[in-house]
Amino acid sequence: MDLKITGRWAVICAASEGLGFACAAALVAEGVNVVINARRTEQLEMAALQLQEINSAVSIRWISGDITQPETQEAVLTASPMVDILITNAGGPPTGHFSEWSHDIWYQAINTNMLTPITLIQAVINKMADRSFGRIINITSGTVKAPQNELGLSNGARGGLTTFVSGLAKSHLLMRNNVTINNLLPGAFETQRLRQTFKQKALRYGDSPENMAMQRSQKIPAGRFGIPEEFGACCAFLCSTHAGYITGQNILIDGGAYPGVF
Ligand code: NAP
Repeated sequence: MDLKITGRWAVICAASEGLGFACAAALVAEGVNVVINARRTEQLEMAALQLQEINSAVSIRWISGDITQPETQEAVLTASPMVDILITNAGGPPTGHFSEWSHDIWYQAINTNMLTPITLIQAVINKMADRSFGRIINITSGTVKAPQNELGLSNGARGGLTTFVSGLAKSHLLMRNNVTINNLLPGAFETQRLRQTFKQKALRYGDSPENMAMQRSQKIPAGRFGIPEEFGACCAFLCSTHAGYITGQNILIDGGAYPGVF
């Protein structure tokens, strides 16, 4: 299927690896020019080279810096001549116990996983409406639908983003001007983040990361972790011209792990 977004410009935050990179790769394959961001310059530069190999006809720009910082947000947004597509993403907050989370730790989680995406959305949305095209995807988490106690920081911050987006996405101004906002909710995907989680859990439970990973994958009806390319493909479709009637949705990609109906 031709997604009909060739020549568009996308800003993809936190995209030197993992799910952000997979979204960038899927968009680049569709002929979208991209600005990618991450903190570590070397990895980001390598990611940009990989993207250029996927499609030599598109422009690839990269801006290193922490996306939670206003100067990085400004640099990322101005590196793109226009923002037709915005993918918000950043690292997830640490796991732990609620009794350990100070106000500062809470603020950091809320700033990273709620206020930063909202600030970026605010910066681009009116111009998208003026141009009658806009696609915004927030990478959140399956735990928004099925919160886990140890992921309380993520549950709280991403929950706030989710309900904010639900209200905004349905505004007449956006929908009458072909601007959509959706959230993609990853279950367990084979990325550095997931590998790191198993290392931490293995230390806590005195087991090996490999064993913890195997046990977890067997609990997923698919019997495996998600592949980032599967995530990227879904993102690219939601950014396509064809997806203009889909907004305010929380799309879970989890190999059947969520037990509920809705
Ligand atoms: P990942 O493999 O660890 O990749 C994270 C990417 O984000 C890297 O490119 C990293 O590069 C960049 N990054 C992190 N913090 C950043 C910041 N403050 N500013 C700019 N760039 C930043 O993670 P992932 O698995 O793709 O996860 C992406 C998001 O999905 C996270 O929020 C995660 O919590 C969530 N999620 C993932 C899973 C899963 O199974 N993978 C499940 C549920 C939710 P630098 O380190 O160089 O900045």
